[in-house]
Amino acid sequence: MKIQDKKVVNIKYTLTDNDKNIIDQSQDGSFSFLIGAGNIIPGLEKSLMEKEVGNVFDVQIEPAEAYGEYNKEFVHKVPRTQFPPDVEINPGMQFQGQSPDGQMTVVTVKEINGDDIMIDNNHPLAGVQLNFAVEVTGIREASETELEHGHVHDSNEHHA
Ligand code: ZN
Repeated sequence: MKIQDKKVVNIKYTLTDNDKNIIDQSQDGSFSFLIGAGNIIPGLEKSLMEKEVGNVFDVQIEPAEAYGEYNKEFVHKVPRTQFPPDVEINPGMQFQGQSPDGQMTVVTVKEINGDDIMIDNNHPLAGVQLNFAVEVTGIREASETELEHGHVHDSNEHHA
């Protein structure tokens, strides 16, 4: 069987940046997902199409096909009063935030100038070229329910 749209795919992977720092890797043997459902970044989906179990490959993915280009306009100045008074704010700190369309985002503190805090709403991996080392370890048909839900059900995670 070859990987095509709407198959359930298992892979082992290691993700590194261009300085060979490991950003992420598959836990507990392998990672499974429904392909073509936006579960993973577009560049990785594309690289997997037509692959078979046992295929091992490296792929470099540009930011546009991963977490997007770095956008300077996503850096904002906010007053210190917008943060809890009892929390010490330091550059590099990350907070959970919410974008206007309701998506969970990560906000990173870039710089502190007195009562002004520069925060960055870019995804932490925006503008980063991603290098994946991938091994395809499984391919199967998705169930009706999985297709309906748009994700895989064979992990240990339960959901409502
Ligand atoms: Zn589900």
